[in-house]
Amino acid sequence: QIFMPLNFLGFVYREIRGSLTNIENLFALLEQQPAIVDKADAKELHVTKGEIVFENVGFAYHKDRQILENVNFVVKAGTKVAVVGESGAGKSTLVKLLFRFYDPTAGSIKIDGQDIAQYTQDSVRQHIGIVPQDTVLFNDTLYENIRYGRPDASEEEIQEAIKLAHLDAFVNLLPDKGDTQVGERGLKLSGGEKQRVSIARTILKRPPIMVFDEATSSLDSQSEQAILSALREIAKGYTSFMIAHRLSTIVDADIIIVMDKGQIAEQGSHSDLLNLNGIYTNLWQAQQKNTNTG
Ligand code: ATP
Repeated sequence: QIFMPLNFLGFVYREIRGSLTNIENLFALLEQQPAIVDKADAKELHVTKGEIVFENVGFAYHKDRQILENVNFVVKAGTKVAVVGESGAGKSTLVKLLFRFYDPTAGSIKIDGQDIAQYTQDSVRQHIGIVPQDTVLFNDTLYENIRYGRPDASEEEIQEAIKLAHLDAFVNLLPDKGDTQVGERGLKLSGGEKQRVSIARTILKRPPIMVFDEATSSLDSQSEQAILSALREIAKGYTSFMIAHRLSTIVDADIIIVMDKGQIAEQGSHSDLLNLNGIYTNLWQAQQKNTNTG
């Protein structure tokens, strides 16, 4: 008699914390309040393949300043797209629109043929996993922090996610392994470790579309390699969208979208773009030079 309600309360508690994490993660990435509400007749989005189409998308945060103009691109299901460009070019804004944090002021964004503006925000976000630059950790054990990705995940699934996220060596060194308390009142994790916790959460959630916001802060190269190989692992066969700062991390993307002042300046594979000898080539050469001299 006591067990049932307690069990249920535990479930509710985990559910609430689970959705809190999603919201917190989202805010950590987006740093602002949602600006739109669902239409009264909004439906639930169904994603089977994960194809994304931006069609003539325009967007302005404020009427007097156009941020995105005429953005057109297609991400085929199961492929990897990278978005690059100078600071302020509009990369994060693309992700905010994909997440239905805002609706485009012109054009449409379709996921598997469905115009996301007509569907509930919740159902859109359910199908998209985000690995932000800065992950929020709760004052709880490392295992529980990972379980937030999917509260009903089994112990084996959590272990598997830890492995795929390249966190196992780290966990094995902790005093209480996965039961170690982390967060503000526990062990503080480095930026790269936190990002790998977020990757493990996303592996548990396994959404058809994943968005990675590459950390701008310099991670040590071991951390960076671990993150990159974890990302490759989980993105296999899924649609993935990466906001990239270092071009060396995205040379294998199926398409690279080069944003410049709110418009797509160039798009194609790494070698297509190098052949164009334009903005991408300049960015690439500048970064190569930094790597060689720095
Ligand atoms: P970074 O690489 O620095 O993160 P970004 O390419 O992701 O830059 P966005 O964050 O998409 O660029 O910003 C595009 C433009 O929109 C910038 O000029 C920015 O100042 C503006 N902007 C972003 N968020 C808002 C907002 N909430 N309200 C008004 N303007 C905004």
